[in-house]
Amino acid sequence: MRIDIISIFPEFFGVLDISLLGKARERGIIDLGVHNLRDFTHDRHRTVDDTPYGGGAGMVMKPEPWGEAFDQVLQDESSVVIFPSPAGERFTQATARELALEPHLVFGCGRYEGIDQRVIAHTATRARVREVSLGDYVLNGGEVAVMAMIEAIGRLVPGVVGNPESLTEESHEDGLLEYPSYTKPAVWRDLEVPPVLLSGNHGAIAAWRHEQQLERTRRVRPDLLQP
Ligand code: SAM
Repeated sequence: MRIDIISIFPEFFGVLDISLLGKARERGIIDLGVHNLRDFTHDRHRTVDDTPYGGGAGMVMKPEPWGEAFDQVLQDESSVVIFPSPAGERFTQATARELALEPHLVFGCGRYEGIDQRVIAHTATRARVREVSLGDYVLNGGEVAVMAMIEAIGRLVPGVVGNPESLTEESHEDGLLEYPSYTKPAVWRDLEVPPVLLSGNHGAIAAWRHEQQLERTRRVRPDLLQP
């Protein structure tokens, strides 16, 4: 998979050198390009923003540098462009699964009050475009949202996580939250691991885990159980 990121803060993405995604890059499973939007400006101040038409507070990202950045980065109609936005569709595990199948993802990180809407409209004439929200809150910029999305998508790309089975028994994979996990020692600070997990009875363990998933989901995220 090829991933391109366009941002005025490319240094945010240095952390993609480490951990599982860093290893996936070393092994050639994920190929990453990070582009500084200011490299596509032509004035002395490398300006990427201007005042909003119609008035109002804050600044809006100018279309011209974005257009030039996409001219360079977009390959063909196989590219999917993701604009992180609190006004976008909600990013979920299902979104991550869909995007993990794509050969080329491009992320355009907004700042200030966001990007001139014509950039999204124009990009949609030459690639598939999605405006995607990490959640119902407002961040200062798209970088942190994109980091979270890349981590969620990247770990679903075949070969990135060593044991693919570990991906199937997770929260949101079957519509429920995951059961609680325990490791050694069996007693820690007077707290015992649930005895069923030490029983060796795989049927009983599976039943206990499913019950825990249902109980936790009912308690913490009842909305997930709505039809
Ligand atoms: N004025 C915009 C609005 O009300 O919808 C918010 C702009 S926000 C301060 C600046 C940038 O942060 C956005 O363009 C987007 O890239 C990113 N951002 C903020 N919150 C986000 C969220 N919940 N999910 C994804 N991206 C977000």
